[in-house]
Amino acid sequence: MGLLLHKDDKHPRELSLWEALKEGTKVVLGIESTAHTFGVGVASSDGRILANENRVYKPPKGGIHPREAAQHHARVAPETLRAGISRAGISLSELDGIAFSVGPGLGPCLRTGATIARTLALSLNKPLIAVNHSVAHIEIGRLLAGCRDPMVLYVAGGNTLVVTFSAGRYRVFGETLDIAAGNCLDAFGIKAGIGPMPMPELMAEKAKSFVQLPYTVKGMDVSFSGLLTAAFLKLKQGVALEDVCLGLTETVYSMLTEVTERAVAYTAKKEILVVGGLARSKRLREMLDTMARERGAEVYTIPDEYAGDNGAMIAWNGVLQLLSGMVVDVEDSRVKPRMRIDEVDVKWFG
Ligand code: MG
Repeated sequence: MGLLLHKDDKHPRELSLWEALKEGTKVVLGIESTAHTFGVGVASSDGRILANENRVYKPPKGGIHPREAAQHHARVAPETLRAGISRAGISLSELDGIAFSVGPGLGPCLRTGATIARTLALSLNKPLIAVNHSVAHIEIGRLLAGCRDPMVLYVAGGNTLVVTFSAGRYRVFGETLDIAAGNCLDAFGIKAGIGPMPMPELMAEKAKSFVQLPYTVKGMDVSFSGLLTAAFLKLKQGVALEDVCLGLTETVYSMLTEVTERAVAYTAKKEILVVGGLARSKRLREMLDTMARERGAEVYTIPDEYAGDNGAMIAWNGVLQLLSGMVVDVEDSRVKPRMRIDEVDVKWFG
């Protein structure tokens, strides 16, 4: 704690007290609740993450049931909030704003987090800040990985995007046409009985041969649902689980690397930032590294703690929005389950 960077620096460093005072430090509490994670983070405008407390809902069987995940969030909220505040070492009255994930995400989960954020903002009389979850993944990545203007690959259980900043917004270069990359791997692992990521990737390391599976890149977009079905079919036909895992993970990562490479080629960006839960994948990082080296670019990865959904990223994005005057009235703070990343004016970029 206490590191972190100044936007002109490539590598994180501590801000001097003088610099922090000069900037009039603001402290924001952020609430994340788009899917399986209920998170509370606290971040300050000098680039410090003061707290990052996350509680992850683990379904007893299968994937996430939105209502049950929302009930989990409501149940763990008081304890998580207390833990976040006490870790940050501040009192609620010292906060300068309350941020929450407004979308995209699962409706019941979003509403649970939003209700808590509104209640806090009203009772403490603090500004309310509605944060786009995908933008927050990118901004915490830029902060912690220390890159400035990257081509971003955002890969997770619910999202697959290739985006970069251009003319005031994060613009989508490529995305999935059906399910997310992380969802494809998680769903396969769960149904095959080994569990979600990283299990399919670990299993792939034991493979003896490579299984060819459908590779679907359409222009800049990717599609994973046919691939998932084909992988199940191979399993049913008696192909070894390890070999199917290898075919599946290599195919998913190759598709992602191809569209990212094309986006980098179009834009001549020299930085590639990987964020989202799948940013933890060693093999994906390896493939991207190889591609980047050939293009004279560099891959930036986020520390594992901040790769998946977390409260700190909402708090940090809340700081950026607060400093840009992007706050909302409670009446206008309805959640947006299908919100797109390119709806957001990214006024703080620079
Ligand atoms: Mg996410």
